[in-house]
Amino acid sequence: MDYDVLLCNGLVIDPANSRNGRFHIGIREGIIQRVWEADDRMPLPTSKMVIDAKELIVTPGLIDLHVHIFTDYTPLGIQTDRIGVQQGVTTVVDAGSAGVESYPIFLEKSVTSSETEVLAWINISRLGLCGGLSELADLSQLAPVETAHLMKSDSRICGIKARMSASVVQENGSKPLYVAKQVARELEVPVMVHIGNAPPALHEVLELLEAGDVVTHAFHGKKGGIFTEEGSLLPEAERALKRGVIFDVGHGTSSFSFATMRRALECGIKPYTISTDIYRQNIDGPVHSLAMTMNKILALGVSLDEVVEMSTCNPARILRKDHEIGTLTEGTRADISLLRMKKGPLELTDSEQATLTTSSYLQPELTIKSGKVLKCV
Ligand SMILES: [Zn+2]
Repeated sequence: MDYDVLLCNGLVIDPANSRNGRFHIGIREGIIQRVWEADDRMPLPTSKMVIDAKELIVTPGLIDLHVHIFTDYTPLGIQTDRIGVQQGVTTVVDAGSAGVESYPIFLEKSVTSSETEVLAWINISRLGLCGGLSELADLSQLAPVETAHLMKSDSRICGIKARMSASVVQENGSKPLYVAKQVARELEVPVMVHIGNAPPALHEVLELLEAGDVVTHAFHGKKGGIFTEEGSLLPEAERALKRGVIFDVGHGTSSFSFATMRRALECGIKPYTISTDIYRQNIDGPVHSLAMTMNKILALGVSLDEVVEMSTCNPARILRKDHEIGTLTEGTRADISLLRMKKGPLELTDSEQATLTTSSYLQPELTIKSGKVLKCV
């Protein structure tokens, strides 16, 4: 047999390799061995399993840059594979549920027994979200030295999370972010900053961020977001975008607004990455899944190629793992998503209960994780 799994005739969208067309993909020993243009005149190689993907869209395994999967110990945590491989997502990045002290339990609960690959933004506060959701209110809980030490020994931790909104930092303003940035600079890794209700004011937060740092919840509909009340872009947001700060969706229960996203698109601002901020309390709405969040961006007029890019190679780049994931390059691990474009109508809801009806939408059908074929739920 030439291959273990052969994907035939799928519409392959692989922005990392500028592919958009009909391709065959041969997988052996969990690795993408060969990707080649489909040609009916050529005989197919032999394979233990053949998947006819003619009706499907084939993308690199989807990556969700912002999730919460730390079950039992945090109020948000949801089971990893439920939002991962069962929904077409091969890599999830937990966004600060664990800090340096709770990280070992996090690994045990949510990482080692999962099929989905887990990466992490480590919370700069030592317990992460295990001690409640005001983790930056007490500065003595910040653990820069220990966090840096842990990060050097665990390549699954890709960056540092600091949640910068009033309920989290209380009297501390941007101080926790200063500390997080110091560690991040020393290790040359990005920070992910959650934005929400001030204080700290958004302009203060943005001025601290550098190229490659991520603003999640960038398109929320609350006061004090990237647009002024008159609808013009905050000068600090414009400067941040110019110097390469990343704007990420981070949908969440209350952090994604069609109106804000529409205004941003009108100004030529697209999300660099699409992430869900999915957790127990929002999986049944308004978030549902990464695919459903992608559908919302699609419904607002962003092209399918771009939406795939925002959910595959762009997050991989932020994580500095684009040589491993977010790509269908030959020789990389076979993490692949197979999606069906279904006919609507389907009503989509944002975090402000605004709705939008779409005539077609993506639905994950199969996930291939390290060469293993799994059915989506
Ligand atoms: Zn979050």
